[in-house]
Amino acid sequence: MPSTAAAESVAPGVRRVRVPMPPGTGLPFSNAYLIADTDGRVHLIDPGSPTAEAREALRTALDGAPVASIVLTHLHADHSGGAADLAAETGAPVLVHERERAALRLIAAGLPAPDLKAWGVPAERHPELLAAAAVPTGPAAQLVDAAITGVLTDGELLDVPGRRLRVVGTPGHTDGHLCLHDEEAGLIFTGDHVLPTINSGLGLGGPTATNPIADYLASLDRVAELDRGTLTALPGHENPFTGLRERCAALAAHHLRRADEVAAHPGGTVWEAARTLTWTGGWDALAGFTLLSALRQTAQHRQFVAQRA
Ligand SMILES: [Zn+2]
Repeated sequence: MPSTAAAESVAPGVRRVRVPMPPGTGLPFSNAYLIADTDGRVHLIDPGSPTAEAREALRTALDGAPVASIVLTHLHADHSGGAADLAAETGAPVLVHERERAALRLIAAGLPAPDLKAWGVPAERHPELLAAAAVPTGPAAQLVDAAITGVLTDGELLDVPGRRLRVVGTPGHTDGHLCLHDEEAGLIFTGDHVLPTINSGLGLGGPTATNPIADYLASLDRVAELDRGTLTALPGHENPFTGLRERCAALAAHHLRRADEVAAHPGGTVWEAARTLTWTGGWDALAGFTLLSALRQTAQHRQFVAQRA
């Protein structure tokens, strides 16, 4: 069992809790952040997974402190899943970006299965992909949606006495992903938008009206511009880091390289295009959810390439 170490200070008035992830998710922890306000209350960013272990880690870190608000960077269960229980316990409002609540409602209503035939996927791979697509995001989304009590908009300042925390909409990973920028303290909470070493998947928050790759590149520019060289990034996984501007440039370069790879094979189906691309661990290792994610990303990149042409 991962240790539920007490919250550690990462900046004046800001503590980080490593909230254990369920086994099999490939990541050891997500980060919850506790922000103290001048009224002696705590504002929580991303309570983490909807598990007893995660709740215990938060309870230990909070140690009875009154929770004034819960802000979710995005809808994924490893960040938002614990919100409903914590809100019920504390009475704190739960806030997401307005675009994320719209996405949650779409997901909760049920998503259409991916069109595997149109992607050219061989019939023998259909069962594992349909099973992966049916993973119960619906019930999880309903749980989170039911807990939400308010929405946030771009540029809005959070109601945190003694602090100026501004909402920065950063669509890409999900359509309503948000970062929170504290200019005076030189901090930015980046959720899964920018992680120090992991490349976050894109378009993982339900159907979108716009291309997630194009959205993501624009969102990288938005947060890179906030870094004048002294900003500390507080991510949703891994550890706090500096060099946000450089990290954004590396992530943009990764996606533009991938777009060029896709552009070099314009013909054929999504399946055929995906096979020609380089994948961490190799194409043959992809199965189930990772295969579905690879195909979705290839389809998104093809759309992105077609749009920029
Ligand atoms: Zn995520």
